[in-house]
Amino acid sequence: MPPLEHAGRRVRPLIGELRALGVAALDLLFPALCPVCGATLAAGRRDPLCGPCWSAIPRLPAPWCARCGRPLPALHAPPPAAGPGAGDLRWPLCGACVGSSSAYDWARAAAAYDGVARDAIHAFKFRGMTALARPLAALVVEQCAPAVPADVAGLVPVPLARARQTERGFNQAALLAVRIAGALDVRVRRRWLARTRATRPQTELGAAERRANVRGAFVASPAVAGRHVVLVDDVVTTGTTVEECARALHAAGAARVGVLTVARVL
Ligand SMILES: [Zn+2]
Ligand SMILES: [Zn+2]
Repeated sequence: MPPLEHAGRRVRPLIGELRALGVAALDLLFPALCPVCGATLAAGRRDPLCGPCWSAIPRLPAPWCARCGRPLPALHAPPPAAGPGAGDLRWPLCGACVGSSSAYDWARAAAAYDGVARDAIHAFKFRGMTALARPLAALVVEQCAPAVPADVAGLVPVPLARARQTERGFNQAALLAVRIAGALDVRVRRRWLARTRATRPQTELGAAERRANVRGAFVASPAVAGRHVVLVDDVVTTGTTVEECARALHAAGAARVGVLTVARVL
């Protein structure tokens, strides 16, 4: 019946217009503010980050160390044309990685743990601004997606101790992993890695104490056997925690272990 069809077509755009009008009215009454700098969100916004904060995140420039992901001096020539999913795993190693070993096979971080990246991660983790998972995960995808090989079987968020997660109300690594996995079309596999005991916050400890603190604190599921697994966390500081997670995954038979984080300490 033409009149009804006509009415149907009119109603949907009208609802959309009303909703947009409602959002605009709410923005006017309660302007959305950037959790990092407090500015009103305007052009270039990556909700809830404002445009200038999003642009000011200190992204890590190529080339990157093939293992730890630290930026390399620019004198390194770009690698030959990449195959599908080859990513940047064919870059040379940085000075710190040459002659040393690591439990993980590759790692990439989107940004240096500094400036807006550090402020945003603090607001996300310690002030409960969980909406920041969206732009921070988008940053990882923007910067690191080409480095993620095609054979990855699952993203594994670094597990929090039960008491810590209860206190915080969420696991920041899991919130990031869900969004990154959606963009990369990979599954999140929370059950592939568990914490066997609580550990002290790593920030309170020196290097040797950090290693002792997390030694044996994780156990991986036999499901990881023969698979390429990627750990996800918000930030790598000394790398002791992801090292221990990677050790547990390899001990359970994982073929390869990668690490994706929003930021790393350089
Ligand atoms: Zn801002
Ligand atoms: Zn390196």
